[in-house]
Amino acid sequence: MQTRLAPEYQNSAHAQDAQDAQAILRKCVHCGFCNATCPTYQLLGDELDGPRGRIYLIKQVLEGNAPTRKTQLHLDRCLTCRNCETTCPSGVDYGHLLDIGRKLVDSQVSRPTMEKIVRWTLKEGLSSPLFGPAMQLGQLLRPMLTERLQDKVPPKQKPGAWPTRPHARKVLLLAGCVQPDMAPNITHATARVLDAAGIQSLMEPSAGCCGAVKYHLNDQDGGKAQMRANIDAWWPHVQTDPGGNTSGAVEAIVMNASGCGVTVKEYGHILRHDPAYAAKAQHISSLTRDLSELLPDLVAALQANIPGLVEKIRQTAPTLAYHPPCTLQHGQQLKGGVEQHLKMLGFDIRTPSNEAHLCCGSAGTYSVLNPALSNALRDRKLGHLGTLQAQTLVSANMGCIIHLQNGTTTPVRHWIEVLDMALHTP
Ligand code: SF4
Ligand code: SF4
Repeated sequence: MQTRLAPEYQNSAHAQDAQDAQAILRKCVHCGFCNATCPTYQLLGDELDGPRGRIYLIKQVLEGNAPTRKTQLHLDRCLTCRNCETTCPSGVDYGHLLDIGRKLVDSQVSRPTMEKIVRWTLKEGLSSPLFGPAMQLGQLLRPMLTERLQDKVPPKQKPGAWPTRPHARKVLLLAGCVQPDMAPNITHATARVLDAAGIQSLMEPSAGCCGAVKYHLNDQDGGKAQMRANIDAWWPHVQTDPGGNTSGAVEAIVMNASGCGVTVKEYGHILRHDPAYAAKAQHISSLTRDLSELLPDLVAALQANIPGLVEKIRQTAPTLAYHPPCTLQHGQQLKGGVEQHLKMLGFDIRTPSNEAHLCCGSAGTYSVLNPALSNALRDRKLGHLGTLQAQTLVSANMGCIIHLQNGTTTPVRHWIEVLDMALHTP
């Protein structure tokens, strides 16, 4: 699709973004195949709430048409699930185009005051040191909260012990911003399973939020600052010494939240124009793995280290229904690994035959900013998962897990928690 950049985008602070967007737009042939797998197009049936329509809106802005509040709303309604990227036969880099489009539109269209307050509170609050104490207070008062507020405050978890055995193989884990307070067992379970497979988990306390929340709420500079801070925090753990010796360095930076993983894998792209950080960011991204990418190794090591494991899991583990997060299957293009390897370990894990590719509606802060669409997608997803009649639902991203749990009494867990439980079942 040819795009003639308006003069204001040719020599301004937005020139780089505009050229990047123009290159992405060039690949789009406007065929509309992407609409077929877009959740918001499925729900709303409006061309402008599908990827092709949003791409067209961004093209219009770049060509000098002033964006309006309506343009902003159609871009806001996008979940950034990137299902459209998986479907697109022309390889259109929709996610990056949307980031640019939202930035350009927000620089020209003001938001209502209440919306500004909510968005500011989310972007500053979720990665604030005050989030932990606020969550603890919320958990204490949880029985007195309204049902809607209870959805945002999961019950307090006891994460169990952190393994202390040293191993020659080491990886870094990212605690993240809200996961330590909302679902701490996920990272503790990760460390215990890795320990059972002979891998030591390190945590760098000065690493924090991956930067996704701020970046996707259009505070791109704030998000980039968090990314640079993480790179600085991890750098001593990933460097080789002057002789090129890698001993002591971690072999990977492992993400057990696919939403953080997709972002850290993008550090290299996001910071590519930053001369001080471009190379480091690329190295960090190249070392980053979703936890499921370790599964081939884990399956072999666990079977070798724990005789009779598969038989024990077959006899004692609950039946599972799996929801693959969009950040895993579309953002990172990792498909089938969790199901395949958990089956090899003896789990009965099922995936819906209908709409397994569709978003559950969680999508970072989307469930707060667009609750009606978000809940409609959640209920649709739970309907499909419910047909599998499993005892436990599993996923690979804390946001999806908490969002799905708010709509069902069936337990929803991270798959690593279920594996951890199976290892420690007598
Ligand atoms: S993004 Fe891809 S699938 Fe969608 S209209 Fe453009 S070329 Fe077609
Ligand atoms: S990212 Fe998801 S919601 Fe947004 S246009 Fe693409 S498929 Fe639709």
